[in-house]
Amino acid sequence: MKIKTNYANTPVWREINVKSRIPESLKMLEVMARNIWWAWNDDATEMFRELDPELWRAVGQNPVALLERLNYEKLEALSVDKEMLGKINAIYDRFTEYMSVKPDKNRPSVAYFCMEYGLTHVLKIYSGGLGILAGDYLKEASDSNVDMCGIGFLYRYGYFTQSLSMDGQQIANYEAQNFGSLPLERVKDENDQPMVLDVPYLNYYVHAYVWRVNVGRVPLYLLDTDNEMNSEFDRSITHQLYGGDWENRLKQEILLGIGGVLLLKKLGIKKDVYHCNEGHAALCNVQRLCDYVESGMSFDEALEVVRASSLYTVHTPVPAGHDYFDEGLFGKYMGGYPQRMGISWQDLMDLGRINPGDPNERFCMSTFACNTCQEVNGVSWLHGKVSQEMFSGIWKGYFPEENHVGYVTNGVHFPTWCASEWKALYNKYFDKNFMHDQSNPKIWERIYNVPDEEIWKTRVALKNKLINYIRDQFRDTWLKNQRDPSRVVSLMDKINPNALLIGFARRFATYKRAHLLFTDLDRLAKIVNNPDYPVQFLFAGKAHPHDGAGQGLIKKIIEISNRPEFLGKIIFLENYDMKLARRLVSGVDIWMNTPTRPLEASGTSGEKALMNGVVNFSVLDGWWLEGYREGAGWALTEKRTYQNQEHQDQLDAATIYSILETEILPLYYARNKKGYSEGWIKTIKNSIAQVAPHYTMKRQLDDYFAKFYGKEAERFHALEANNYEQVKKLAAWKEEVAAKWDEIQVVSFNKCQDLCNGNVESGKDYKLTCVVDEKGLDDAIGIEQVVTYTNAEGREYIYAVNPMKMVKREGNLFTFEMIAGLSNAGSFKVAYRMFPKNDALPHRQDFCYVRWFNE
Ligand SMILES: *Cc1c(COP(=O)(O)O)cnc(C)c1O
Repeated sequence: MKIKTNYANTPVWREINVKSRIPESLKMLEVMARNIWWAWNDDATEMFRELDPELWRAVGQNPVALLERLNYEKLEALSVDKEMLGKINAIYDRFTEYMSVKPDKNRPSVAYFCMEYGLTHVLKIYSGGLGILAGDYLKEASDSNVDMCGIGFLYRYGYFTQSLSMDGQQIANYEAQNFGSLPLERVKDENDQPMVLDVPYLNYYVHAYVWRVNVGRVPLYLLDTDNEMNSEFDRSITHQLYGGDWENRLKQEILLGIGGVLLLKKLGIKKDVYHCNEGHAALCNVQRLCDYVESGMSFDEALEVVRASSLYTVHTPVPAGHDYFDEGLFGKYMGGYPQRMGISWQDLMDLGRINPGDPNERFCMSTFACNTCQEVNGVSWLHGKVSQEMFSGIWKGYFPEENHVGYVTNGVHFPTWCASEWKALYNKYFDKNFMHDQSNPKIWERIYNVPDEEIWKTRVALKNKLINYIRDQFRDTWLKNQRDPSRVVSLMDKINPNALLIGFARRFATYKRAHLLFTDLDRLAKIVNNPDYPVQFLFAGKAHPHDGAGQGLIKKIIEISNRPEFLGKIIFLENYDMKLARRLVSGVDIWMNTPTRPLEASGTSGEKALMNGVVNFSVLDGWWLEGYREGAGWALTEKRTYQNQEHQDQLDAATIYSILETEILPLYYARNKKGYSEGWIKTIKNSIAQVAPHYTMKRQLDDYFAKFYGKEAERFHALEANNYEQVKKLAAWKEEVAAKWDEIQVVSFNKCQDLCNGNVESGKDYKLTCVVDEKGLDDAIGIEQVVTYTNAEGREYIYAVNPMKMVKREGNLFTFEMIAGLSNAGSFKVAYRMFPKNDALPHRQDFCYVRWFNE
């Protein structure tokens, strides 16, 4: 018999998943793992870590993965460990007590739409500031018992993990997430099957699975199209955050807005206010319009209802940052919608255009959001102003400073970003009610009662923690993908816990000017090598994979940090994420931010630093323009000296060096016998007492209620009462005014001769009379005088708006009068404008018809 050299068939492998069987007495761990309440309750996180510290690290601090992989012997041992059980039970009791609180029915309910959410580094569904803000917002909504739900995506790959090649080239790795091991739950339908949401695209449906992240008491619903029901073309809709081409982006925004509203309907969820966090979500208003029209309303009526109940928050300060879609692409996907809304294709396009009817103008999501949301806001005082300008083209007839765009300055979720060491300190010295009254400066003032030494000790402890973390986490990474081992060791040795440590971490977008510090390398080398005043810089941040310039900045910093004179003085830490951010904002001495004014809409990382006794040294832009107080940090002025950006950069860099040399370093090193600088502690105390109370997420949430949600919900409910009685009335009135607008006539306008000639004396009164034929409208017109002045830069501003009073009505003729006069001498311009007048309008731009006249 011939023996073959080998003879074997191929095995048929079956996958088996061995999941830990959790003993009955530890079941509550599973419940807690699937509510990310642990992410902002340090003792709960610590409890999971203690179950198996090594495994905790190996699973990336993910409690669900930890429980899945804990071995049975360990679990058995735990289930009889009295002490651990006691701890677990105590935390579980707190959790169940927290969860038993019902939403506050006295405040409006909110549906919140966002492309990204930064809740914990474990859930890679965020890229940067926008996501972290949204995540912090849901957490605070939970803590404040708000009836809110979030809508977003469960990304298969999310945003990338960053590593660096030897020469500083950013390498972007996209790692697939295994949804089963994440702290979330699948939403099931009535048959206990995975719920599938069908979202119409072109002439077919995209099918999305629905997941829920329990953010304390607030549900966050995530859509996921990466499943076998969809074609390859559509599976990728939820693959990456800000990846793919424009077509994929449009498909994402359809899923978020239209899919999001369809999901709420499927789940039977109705809210008072629909909040678009950034323009990505604005198509939610398309679906809401369709729904109202299909229930029997006219488009104009539907628009009233939708507008009244929606808010758009813009986060971008420049038009280039908005999403624009070509008419062809937009039409490919959205072509079927106008008919359902009872309007034409042109009408829909025009809702997204600044100049309706301009065929060359693309559909802009932000413009559409402005046109379909009653309220719009920026994310800091300055950004509110910038946004008024940015959107002013939409509301012609009004000056930027007149339009309704408001602001709410961003804040950060205190329990997420405050280190437990500081929480303990605040607990000891602050009012017991602190957590429920976080925006109360009176409470924070108690920081002045804390002994300096205790503040210093806390700072030093956190700094050491950061340095140990760096040595621990980065030694391996650096050895693996970088330079020679002796260098890594020498770098590690050079990290000096006694040196002033300055942190700079954020997205590497060029406007953030990460390069600013390196403008004058000789001077910088002198600063960092001064033996009396050692100082070290930590940099971190990702550049978008399509942003070549941003990646160039990273490379440049890596190159500089490799020079002998900067070795160990300038350190770049890879893969900035929430975990690293928490370490940095609590471990450094100074947090630095040097954006190009006024491009930092708000910024939030400096706010995280505040509550950890870390002092800000930043450009007066975004939140810091409002937050800065003398003696509570350092500021680079917000005034632009040069139009030329390069000159401005040089000037700003020189200012940074000089403030460091003459103020910051001498203060930091003015150490007393106990080893710390009293002046430094004073700065920390000022920053905590005077700045921190104003930048918590609680303050931000309360502001949204006070400025927007409250008034919108009230108006929305008034409009919809009695089968939408007011809506019908208002829409009919607008239609009538619009129809007659062009016929309305100024029959006569008597200005005295002086005004006509432009020769006016200050302090003198002039009588004006104007007669308007309203063509059958019933007192629907207002008239006002607008006085402007032009500043030195040539920009025209409103000086005064003076209403003319309606004094007589004869048939269709309305007589208006005013006594005009200017008390200040100077050069002004005067014109008059007519506008539709109705107390039922929330603001003028809601019905933006304006006719200027001067004769
Ligand atoms: C807070 C945070 C940001 C946003 O910070 P900015 O000050 O807006 O740059 C970005 N990324 C991470 C990981 C953060 O924690």
